Amino acid sequence: MLNIKGTKVVVAEVKKQARVFFALWPDLHARAAISSWQGPLSNLVGGRGLPAENLHNTLVFLGAVAIERLENLLLAAQEVSGGKFQLVYTMARYWGHSQIVYAAPGIVPPQLTQLAQTLEHALLRHHFAFERRIYKPHVTLLRHAKWSDTPLPPMEPVKWKMQDFVLLQSHGEGQGVHYEVLARFPLR
Ligand code: ATP
Ligand code: MG
Repeated sequence: MLNIKGTKVVVAEVKKQARVFFALWPDLHARAAISSWQGPLSNLVGGRGLPAENLHNTLVFLGAVAIERLENLLLAAQEVSGGKFQLVYTMARYWGHSQIVYAAPGIVPPQLTQLAQTLEHALLRHHFAFERRIYKPHVTLLRHAKWSDTPLPPMEPVKWKMQDFVLLQSHGEGQGVHYEVLARFPLR
């Protein structure tokens, strides 16, 4: 903040980094179908539903990346050639550790495992850093939920056809986050 002749001039800090991650991004139909699980589940477990327009399935989370490295990030993702596949989300699960409820597919198709792996390898080749975890596809539905070890009731299966994956930028973390699609990468 500068103070020139009594006038407060806010100098916007130049943003040098973007908070980014790769994800599967539902089409309108799949988005509406997955979102329809939120009402009945939150009646049961409480918590706060993620806005429908934010629902996604993370592939690789990078976090802060320097703006000048974003072009390189696109090049890395363009090296990934994955096949199209379908996910059928069949169950809602509670994760007590982080108090979230998420939707999970009954079967993880090999194309998805391969997609996550080849994307990670491409990112490593291009010297991007991220946490390597065992990949468990899921769509977070509710936060701050309270539930036990009892299984959640079965939900109407949701079919979601993956034609591409996306690079998302996360804006305004903590106070009404929203995601911007920076780029799409088609699957064969
Ligand atoms: P908020 O943090 O404001 O509650 P959010 O978690 O949806 O919102 P981000 O923190 O930007 O938004 O995270 C974007 C996505 O990446 C989410 O799916 C989140 O679960 C996932 N994510 C965030 N941090 C990590 C991490 N360290 N490792 C793996 N995935 C992460
Ligand atoms: Mg977060």
